[in-house]
Amino acid sequence: MTRAWNFSAGPAAIPLEVLQQVEKELFDWHGIGASIMEVSHRGKAFVSVIEAAEADLRELLAIPDNYRVLFLQGGASLQFAQVPMNLSVGKSADYLVTGSWSKKAHKEAARIGAARIVATTEGSKFTRLPDFERLAFDENAAYVHLCTNETIHGVEVHEESEARLFEAISSVAPDVPLVADMSSNILSRPLDVRRYGLIYAGAQKNIGPSGVTLVIVRNDLLDRAGENISAQLSYREQADNGSMLNTPPTFAIHVAGLVFKWLKAQGGLDAIAAVNREKARQLYEAIDNSGGFYRNPVDIVCRSVMNIPFSLPTPELEAQFVKESEAAGFIGLKGHKSVGGMRASIYNAVSLEAVEALAGFMKEFCG
Ligand SMILES: *Cc1c(COP(=O)(O)O)cnc(C)c1O
Repeated sequence: MTRAWNFSAGPAAIPLEVLQQVEKELFDWHGIGASIMEVSHRGKAFVSVIEAAEADLRELLAIPDNYRVLFLQGGASLQFAQVPMNLSVGKSADYLVTGSWSKKAHKEAARIGAARIVATTEGSKFTRLPDFERLAFDENAAYVHLCTNETIHGVEVHEESEARLFEAISSVAPDVPLVADMSSNILSRPLDVRRYGLIYAGAQKNIGPSGVTLVIVRNDLLDRAGENISAQLSYREQADNGSMLNTPPTFAIHVAGLVFKWLKAQGGLDAIAAVNREKARQLYEAIDNSGGFYRNPVDIVCRSVMNIPFSLPTPELEAQFVKESEAAGFIGLKGHKSVGGMRASIYNAVSLEAVEALAGFMKEFCG
């Protein structure tokens, strides 16, 4: 078996130990005589799987009891619409636009109801965060939305910035809940869930296979929409039915649950955060010490620990980098088409060893 050094942005690497366990249990899950994906979502076997997944996730993130965990479908992209459908109800929402994903989230919300851009960093090509203290948040807003890690631009709201943002909102709009798209950095570090009214994340970056979308929502936000919404799209209905209003993506939930167990075995989020910081440090060092050969344009305070975009001096050199890195066993390094260049996505499942190999390759390539 040959496994590549996988730096894919999403769907992305899954821990080898998890894949091996999936393989081992594929034909006969825990003696039931079938795969877990071949049995009823309402049967004892799968119910135990989804309950364990939720319990492990709650433990990892220390999710308080007054929050519900939902396993939904439609990706983070459906949340762009489902959030305003459930939470806006006649009110306007404030959006922080810090990259392609939050820009898209705002655009979708504006199709549903009123959605205001309270700040955008598009003028700086999404390379920095806004000055949170200077923003005029609407104290009557339905919510404030942000993306904590812009996967394409490599801009992340780290703990210190997150605390500042939370303070800034609390001081002018204390009753307005914060809603976050955490698709590409959830579970990469400890998180104070209590700062948020709602958190959502597509699974295929840092959680597991595509097909399941995680929503963590505070109880008091479940009822804002009332009955005026499709049951399938209602957080209240989904919460009351254990995310099983219809057939959930059972296999994706199963694998996500194994990833949660793997994370606990790594020592939890403090431990994985330390590894993640070291991985990012090594790659930024390879970029910054290359004498300008590699460039990452993002402001140092918000450089992402998960997605590291970088460019080379010419498109020809970039094409050569892709070709030679693939020959050397690396995959997924080509940047997003909208920004070009390269991007190394170094989610939890990407090992320090893989990152060391990439840093070594980068040093050698620039000569
Ligand atoms: C990938 C991604 C999305 C889109 O996710 P889908 O599950 O494909 O809809 C949204 N937001 C962020 C931050 C992402 O990284």
